[in-house]
Amino acid sequence: MKVDASCHCGSVTYQAEIDPGQVVICHCADCQTFSSAPYRVSVFGVALENLSLKGTPRIYTKIGGSGREVLVAFCPDCGTALYSTKNDAEGPFSLRVGAIRQRRELIPKMQGFCASGQAWAMNIEGISRIPERE
Ligand SMILES: [Zn+2]
Ligand SMILES: [Zn+2]
Repeated sequence: MKVDASCHCGSVTYQAEIDPGQVVICHCADCQTFSSAPYRVSVFGVALENLSLKGTPRIYTKIGGSGREVLVAFCPDCGTALYSTKNDAEGPFSLRVGAIRQRRELIPKMQGFCASGQAWAMNIEGISRIPERE
């Protein structure tokens, strides 16, 4: 599936060919911190040749749970999370679904690191709903 994405300010954009079957939720502590949200949604396994990036994200290097370096890319101007990868020159890339224009179509197929998840966020069905709120 072809998708396109933009950070909030538009400095960094990309087009990609992704597999909608690879959309996952991650409840790990790092994803909570990086996204400042209870969990993050990403699409895994995007090959270098299937990602066309415009603009220059800033890269932050974190040490993953396996002890390996993970490069975390975000917009240097507005801070929007864009992707992570173990090798920026080779991929594969894990794209952050929140910046993808077609995100409504990208339904997660799996959720990981559930033991680290916020208990309330595992089911938000019972929380009062307001259509829009600033
Ligand atoms: Zn931006
Ligand atoms: Zn995570």
